[in-house]
Amino acid sequence: MVLANPSGTAAVPIPGSGSWSASDGAALYGLDRWGEPYFSVSPRGHVMVQPRGDRGGTLDLVELVKELQGRDLSLPLLIRFDDILEDRLERLHTAFERAIAKYGYAGGYQGVFPVKCNQQRHVVEQLVETGRRWHFGLEAGSKAELLIALSLLDDPDALLICNGYKDHRYIETAILARRLGRKPVVVIEQADEVERIIAASRELGAAPLIGIRAKLSTRSTGRWGSSVGDRAKFGLSIPDLLATVEALRQAGLLEDLRLLHFHIGSQINDIAVLKDALQEAGQIYGELTRLGAPMGYLDVGGGLGIDYDGSRTASAASTNYSLQNYANDVVATVRECCEPHGIPVPTLVSESGRAIASHFSVLVFDVLGAGALPGGVPQPAEQEPLVLRNLRDTHATIMAPGHRGEGGAGGAGGADSSENGQIPAHSIERLQEAWNDALKFKDDALAAFRLGYLSLPERARAEQLTWACCQAIANQLETLPAGTAIPDELLALASALAGTYYANLSVFRSAPDTWAIDQLFPVLPIHRLDEKPTRLGSFADLTCDSDGKLARFIDRGHSKPLLELHPLRQGEPYLIGLFLAGAYQEVMGNLHNLFGTTNAVHIRLADGGRYQVDHVVRGDTNAEVLQAMEHDPAQLLERLRLASENAIASGDLSISDSRRLMAHLKASLEQTTYLEG
Ligand SMILES: *Cc1c(COP(=O)(O)O)cnc(C)c1O
Repeated sequence: MVLANPSGTAAVPIPGSGSWSASDGAALYGLDRWGEPYFSVSPRGHVMVQPRGDRGGTLDLVELVKELQGRDLSLPLLIRFDDILEDRLERLHTAFERAIAKYGYAGGYQGVFPVKCNQQRHVVEQLVETGRRWHFGLEAGSKAELLIALSLLDDPDALLICNGYKDHRYIETAILARRLGRKPVVVIEQADEVERIIAASRELGAAPLIGIRAKLSTRSTGRWGSSVGDRAKFGLSIPDLLATVEALRQAGLLEDLRLLHFHIGSQINDIAVLKDALQEAGQIYGELTRLGAPMGYLDVGGGLGIDYDGSRTASAASTNYSLQNYANDVVATVRECCEPHGIPVPTLVSESGRAIASHFSVLVFDVLGAGALPGGVPQPAEQEPLVLRNLRDTHATIMAPGHRGEGGAGGAGGADSSENGQIPAHSIERLQEAWNDALKFKDDALAAFRLGYLSLPERARAEQLTWACCQAIANQLETLPAGTAIPDELLALASALAGTYYANLSVFRSAPDTWAIDQLFPVLPIHRLDEKPTRLGSFADLTCDSDGKLARFIDRGHSKPLLELHPLRQGEPYLIGLFLAGAYQEVMGNLHNLFGTTNAVHIRLADGGRYQVDHVVRGDTNAEVLQAMEHDPAQLLERLRLASENAIASGDLSISDSRRLMAHLKASLEQTTYLEG
């Protein structure tokens, strides 16, 4: 039984009291597992960023945020660490290089970045620039993404993989781009695309490099499991694949068939699934070469997962493999499929988006306030109804020394305390009984109110007393040593007392996958980690939507509805970081309630422990989000000016108040959509 908690926050038991250090904080939020090697905690409890991973250099995230705020960059703030993006790219290539060396693979690796993962110009530019030394390419899934890829990717050896639905113009554009010295590979994803490719090639007298996407039968798991199998949206079934090869042969285009592609969904949690898919694809690749296609590339798609909770399990927010395991399996499996049959091994291509782009951006938001429970025990009134007296008695029983775990405190003859100071089981039982009583009396009070026997102030006292009982039990549970067995029902008190922290962000804008697909991201305070968090809470965002919340948190292979948090301090900001959300969130984010993009900055580590702000991307202003909905800010202001004039004329508004109102309206239009004061 869990009490519904209107909006409260109060101290709750987080077992294991005693001394607390920053490393306890790191362990509590899993930072020491998922944060490696980019995020850690300083002894003073601040989240530290190592933008170059283990190659040295550290930034204090809290100090960084303060200094950025000093540059008039208000929260919520998206901080992109370009060094991390580079480091991820480097790690991916290093992993494949190692695997290739380890298995004596005769081919190479040449990855591409799926633009849909993060289309921001600075991000794609950065990847193209850093990736130049490996001829790292891009993958486009739409015409707009093709335009980005064509204009930014100027390395003649880098692959430009063209996926998605393709009309005539898309295909012709790709063919002609070859003349610009680009290397586009048009991947046939639908059976009818081959005809369009043949027609366009005839018309232009030139063909693109051609790929085929196979629909594998390997069963995937997890959220994107339906990306494979007979009913998958993309890819050719085996009969269609054979028919396509035949059509290309007849059109004289078989010699341009160079690539086999598959994609079994994002965030593959279980490496076994990948191995099956690789084997199946490896065999298909071999068959295609036997059918006379020159081939040369095997594109294993995306799916390389992220260990969001650091648990290294096959659960949804994790993976049971490392980046190196992944590269090893791709290389070894493809080699096993080709070498025994005398088929030259292909150049391996992956379209790893999430694995490259997740780590580099951190969203920092502030907490505007926290709901508070009516605290304390209300003064007794004269002649209180029985139900109130019962609640008072229950509270007194809980507070009685016999209930406490203090050694030899007396009460019921001192029998409640054991020699080593552990709270005896029967004492916990009595707390449980007291809580059952409190709940019953609270229900009685409600019934009495409904029937007209209890006044509104009396009902208020009944509720306040129930919370006081709850709090008193929670306080006692908190003094228990770690590992004490506490019944679920008493543990649930923690949720009853949990608080709502009001967050200056819109999850629909900044973390849409938490809402849409229950995605988990690490969320934690970026300071005060050297201080034991004594509250449990979840976050409510700025939108007027009850779904606008963060109420699922990582928990080592599971999730939990409440996060350990600190009580707010007067006049001091409480800063929360949302990590590993650099992939997909920005573009999937929407304008719900007209909350626009947040301010964003690109940070580079500089010499001497300093940093450099490479780019500032200002968040949408209110004027901009209004325009996105076809409203005209100038016209809007003009209408309100006229309304003010009328109010002045009728004596309802003073001229000075009118000026103040107009000033607020103008200032709001220029500000971001978030709370700035
Ligand atoms: C989305 C997508 C990707 C990227 O997947 P990640 O899991 O982010 O690496 C790659 N290829 C295709 C075809 C996709 O649709």
